[in-house]
Amino acid sequence: MSQAAVLESNVLSPPDEKHRPAVKHLDFNRITDTQFNEAADRIKLEPEIQSLLRSPYRELIVQIPVTMDDGKLEIFHGYRVQHNAVRGPYKGGIRYHPEVDQNEVRSLAALMTWKTALVDIPFGGAKGGVTCDPSQMSRGELQRLTRGLTQKIDMCLGTYRDIPAPDVNTNAQVMAWMMDEYGKKHGYTPGIVTGKPVNLGGSFGREEATGRGTMIITREACQAFGIDIQSARVAIQGFGNVGSWTAKLLQRELGAKKIVAVSDVFGGIFNPDGLDINAVVRHRDETGSVCGMSGTEPLDNEGLLALDVDVLIPAALGGAITSTNVDNIQAKLIVEAANSPVTPGAEQRLRSRGVRIAPDILVNAGGVTVSYFEWVQNLQQFRWELETVNAKLEEHMVRAWVDVYSESDSGKVPLRVAAYSVALRRLGEATRQRY
Ligand code: NAD
Repeated sequence: MSQAAVLESNVLSPPDEKHRPAVKHLDFNRITDTQFNEAADRIKLEPEIQSLLRSPYRELIVQIPVTMDDGKLEIFHGYRVQHNAVRGPYKGGIRYHPEVDQNEVRSLAALMTWKTALVDIPFGGAKGGVTCDPSQMSRGELQRLTRGLTQKIDMCLGTYRDIPAPDVNTNAQVMAWMMDEYGKKHGYTPGIVTGKPVNLGGSFGREEATGRGTMIITREACQAFGIDIQSARVAIQGFGNVGSWTAKLLQRELGAKKIVAVSDVFGGIFNPDGLDINAVVRHRDETGSVCGMSGTEPLDNEGLLALDVDVLIPAALGGAITSTNVDNIQAKLIVEAANSPVTPGAEQRLRSRGVRIAPDILVNAGGVTVSYFEWVQNLQQFRWELETVNAKLEEHMVRAWVDVYSESDSGKVPLRVAAYSVALRRLGEATRQRY
């Protein structure tokens, strides 16, 4: 793919995209809190440290007036939640979506704190977002929105303070605009964002990093639970940055022959003999969706979740698997590439049926790990080769998997409780040392 195509892919959705109403009724904060409480009580984290970690350090809500292409002024609302920086600067992505709100951003910011602690990189947790529908906005409007957001949250950003990155519906281009806008006031500061274009100080391997991390954890989990990934039936919900890279790497590097279904916001495709993922990527790049690819059968997102597969990888939005549809799930292993795709109620039911869940804070931590490598390269003003980035990512992800799996195995607790336990112990220790 050309550099320009890479910049435009993964986000800026086809102009006619209508986002399916997601699960607005879900309280994502409650989900994160439930998961936190289970592990915090288990490791007997002191009540005052629990209390410190339960609430964010700072929340900023900003108004962003944008002159639209038709000359009208539209007022958007943006959020930046800085959850915790006890282990390093605030770090987390920026999401553009019609359903972004303060509550969701707050919960995603907390997940970043757990994630950076789990993979043991010197960052804290933050998240940002703007309530908007990027599929209905031109490139110029998106650029003005991004520059407006950067100006409004400028006071809490900084290379050693808070470093944004891409998330749903934002990409390397959006990060380039943020870096440029920040630089107007502060001078050239590549380390202010990660996930930038490689030309502007981005890291080789960042674009695929979350998918690569997901591939590594899928490989380790399959090995641990006796699933042969080469013949396993796999379904992936979401075919954006994370879903498509996960699919490509599972097929290319692990020889997974039976990725039988993938989907996006428009719907999904199914082939019981396995999809040719490179062909699906080409079809998506040409048409804007995976749907309608020749040689495949159509299915909807609920149908994909209910398929008789060994491995199910939700890689779209949170709240995909709830108590409403959990009884349809047939997978033996769920690999949470998206953030919070399984609600706690659904997880209880899955646990009682023996379904394994590799948790989001472990599975999708590859993105923030390579963001950390990008930041280090920016500070060093020195570029690492792709092989170096991938080898270091492999090391970090496998180490995190071993930490989580050993904790789970020795403590006889589910992988999520184990992952939170490892992360919260590190956060507890750092908090005690600081206060
Ligand atoms: P993206 O915008 O590139 O892709 C999202 C995909 O999900 C698209 O294919 C979209 O069509 C699909 N989708 C959107 N709404 C859907 C719906 N209601 N039903 C089914 N499919 C739907 O986003 P991404 O960067 O791939 O992020 C996906 C998930 O991974 C998010 O939960 C995000 O928070 C998480 N994540 C991303 C990164 C990263 O580096 N990009 C890192 C960590 C976690």
